[in-house]
Amino acid sequence: MYKITVVGGDGIGPEVMKGAIATLESLDINFDFLEMEAGYECFKRNGTTIPEETIKSAKKSHATLFGAITTLDNEKSPIIALRKSLDVYANLRPIKSFEGINCLYPNLDFYIVRENTEGLYSEIEYYSRDEKVAVAHRVVSKKSSRKIIDFTFKQVTTNEREKVTCVHKANVLKKSDGIFREIFYEIAKSYPNIKIEDYYVDAMALYLIQKPETFDYIVTTNLFGDILSDEAAGLVGGLGLAPSGNIGDKYGLFEPVHGSAPDIAGKNISNPIAMILSAGMMLDFLDERYHANKIRIAIENTLKRKKIATPDLGGNDKTIDLVNAVINELKDL
Ligand code: ATP
Repeated sequence: MYKITVVGGDGIGPEVMKGAIATLESLDINFDFLEMEAGYECFKRNGTTIPEETIKSAKKSHATLFGAITTLDNEKSPIIALRKSLDVYANLRPIKSFEGINCLYPNLDFYIVRENTEGLYSEIEYYSRDEKVAVAHRVVSKKSSRKIIDFTFKQVTTNEREKVTCVHKANVLKKSDGIFREIFYEIAKSYPNIKIEDYYVDAMALYLIQKPETFDYIVTTNLFGDILSDEAAGLVGGLGLAPSGNIGDKYGLFEPVHGSAPDIAGKNISNPIAMILSAGMMLDFLDERYHANKIRIAIENTLKRKKIATPDLGGNDKTIDLVNAVINELKDL
């Protein structure tokens, strides 16, 4: 029996989460889902965007599923707080094209690994005394760089891939990204069979468009990873199909790349696939690889058939229709 903390959140978060849970419940695995709160609706009810019980529950569970939240301007981001509390330092984002989906590149299959705990998202920001200048700290520690780069090389080995690309801006950010690049080459020495390369982030933004098929695993710092992974999601069919995992030495937190999408919230037309694929990544984390693969194959088959599609995929179907189509495919596997 796996204990799973579930945070639906705001906007389309609860509806895509419902779809992921229904999919997991259709598998031959026992789950105990513990529903917890976070986000804007939670703030309106409890005066906090992330109650202590949510963090405690995540720490007591085998893994956490997170939908989406609307971030308040004046409050610290609850998802960043949760990632930090769980020390899930690696944000793993698969970039994969699906047959049947109209997209810019039909044959992509690579990963972006984004450092999740520091960089420009360290949330150390302040104004000068006269409030005419605002400063944000960009923290890059040797320890965290080592953890994320080591994680990436291990993933490449486990998944029998060939290459790691390190992305940085060490020509300008000489100290912080200097550390990141230096640690990359230091760790690479222990993996002589894995090909390596490094690019400046601006060149990488171009290469993702010009030669995305040449990448296997891309490892980078927090903000660069955030931007590049949205760009990469755009190459393969958009946010509705982009899952992610936040993984540390102890905990795993799985969430779609998309946000709470207030423009379509409450209409039941959101695409649940990113959330269901995130649940699949959770199964990989729990070492339930057989079932994780089944979910991926069921999704591939559903999208290939093109019978059921939410509006973002060019159809007129509802969230629940796409969920049911995936569950029906699962029954046949
Ligand atoms: P955040 O700041 O929380 O990331 P955002 O508004 O910048 O929020 P999203 O909420 O991800 O970004 O939405 C961006 C666009 O993508 C919106 O037009 C939204 O409707 C669309 N979108 C996001 N997720 C989905 C989904 N699962 N299904 C369909 N459309 C989606």
